[in-house]
Amino acid sequence: MAIEPPLNSIMVYCDKCGKTRRLLAHEYNSDTLGDEQWTCSLLLSRMPDGCKEPDDELKEIVGRRLAAIFQLVNIVSRPALAAADIPTLVRLAGGAEFYTFVYEKVVNAQHAEIDDAMLSALDGDENTRAALARLHVLSPVDLLEQPSATWSTLLHDWHGVHISSETLDQWQTNCKALLKKFSWMRLWSGSVVSDQQQDEQDEQEGTAMGNVKKMKKVEKVEKVETVETVETVETVVEKKVVEKSTK
Ligand SMILES: [Zn+2]
Repeated sequence: MAIEPPLNSIMVYCDKCGKTRRLLAHEYNSDTLGDEQWTCSLLLSRMPDGCKEPDDELKEIVGRRLAAIFQLVNIVSRPALAAADIPTLVRLAGGAEFYTFVYEKVVNAQHAEIDDAMLSALDGDENTRAALARLHVLSPVDLLEQPSATWSTLLHDWHGVHISSETLDQWQTNCKALLKKFSWMRLWSGSVVSDQQQDEQDEQEGTAMGNVKKMKKVEKVEKVETVETVETVETVVEKKVVEKSTK
């Protein structure tokens, strides 16, 4: 399970290293987050390693020690963890007995990334995202399953949410761009879970996060995907090994 973020904390990106940093309520105000650049050096009092410190979103999922290890093979962020090759991570984590642990962490990262991706695809429209979640539309794959006019009608008739087909067309275009950029996202669909029990649980939880938890992988596609990512991360590992041996 991901660690619950402290109350009133916010996540920012460092303008130097690009990593995420969670700022506590007393660590930010309109001045520190103004037009000026924000860098890790502003947190030196509690984070002496500055930009070298592993990414906060990554640490919140795998812990500091593993985040530091993963960083060595360029898995420096939550999006990178979501796209990572599991066997490589298992090896880095210490061996086969860590498989379940690592698998869960990657899935957690993918959940969180899909959650963010959906909100960005919907141009930040939280209200419609919640309504779509009630229709079991939880991922970019789901939103592309039906024509925009169908979603427009369903949103209106079931949830009283008025979204034009044109807007939904744009959102579907956003989803296609996301799937192109993050190929692992093509594996995720909420629609494969449809049994009554899950529906009832969903009613009770009633939150978008509750719905995201229900998403299941489309196993068939996963196999193809694994082959792709193995090559990418293996290449990175090989590169590191080469660098090391030439020193
Ligand atoms: Zn930094």
